[in-house]
Amino acid sequence: MLKGKTALVTGSTSGIGQGIAEALAAGGANVVLNGFGEGAAIEALRAEIAEKNGVTVTYDGADMTKPAEIARMVKDAEAQFGAVDILVNNAGIQYVSPIEEFPDERWDAVIAINLSSAFHTTKAALPAMRSKGWGRIINIASAHGLSASANKSAYVAAKHGIVGLTKVTALETGGSGITCNAICPGWVLTPLVKKQIEDRAAASGKSYEEEKLALVAEKTPSKDFSTPEQIGGLAVFLCSPSADQITGAPLSIDGGWMAQ
Ligand code: NAD
Repeated sequence: MLKGKTALVTGSTSGIGQGIAEALAAGGANVVLNGFGEGAAIEALRAEIAEKNGVTVTYDGADMTKPAEIARMVKDAEAQFGAVDILVNNAGIQYVSPIEEFPDERWDAVIAINLSSAFHTTKAALPAMRSKGWGRIINIASAHGLSASANKSAYVAAKHGIVGLTKVTALETGGSGITCNAICPGWVLTPLVKKQIEDRAAASGKSYEEEKLALVAEKTPSKDFSTPEQIGGLAVFLCSPSADQITGAPLSIDGGWMAQ
């Protein structure tokens, strides 16, 4: 279905982004991977996705805190593939602290990576999408794009921000063949969340397994995690003709978190 399309997935060397990159490649898209990590592991991932799916997969290590690197990354992808047809803004970090103790530089980093980078990628990728008359922009927001939790001021602000950016992008691209939607996952057991469970276990003295169950049970009626594969499946659906009229929507995939 996605043969001949090219997807750029920010933060795809791990977790949800990797799951989305794998799902889009399985659908036939060429993929530009992005994110940090150990060089040999990234190369192994790149080669595996390419070989398994018979598509071209490249890697770009652009830092999502640096607008000039983001613009360069999109330009390079367009030079190689003609356009970024599918843009997935996924890179993200977390920092947990009450507002009074929240370090200024952590606030700036969370906003830069989780929110501003999506503005910069979108700005850079839209002209080529418009000239092709087709494009998909998928912003990975969060349940925290729709509701708040204490001690996550920067993350909740960034995720509410990206839901807003999604709506504006949808309005500005209406009727152009481009759609923009936000996926709002609940808990997904990735390195980003494993660290929060470890921190909870260190603070409470309970085991990792106990805190894992407590964390998911607090917010999630299904009492289970979503997976990167499930989120990848939703991203592929958003690229299908069935989703041509879905735009500007925050789509929850959260085991019922938002029903409360
Ligand atoms: P993760 O830590 O597994 O992956 C984050 C990715 O972002 C990695 O590839 C990392 O290298 C990359 N990254 C971090 N800083 C970067 C930078 N400056 N430049 C480029 N890449 C950078 O985390 P994840 O859980 O897979 O999170 C992915 C996205 O999903 C994030 O936006 C996160 O907020 C969102 N999300 C996660 C959950 C969850 O429960 N895990 C829930 C809702 C939303």
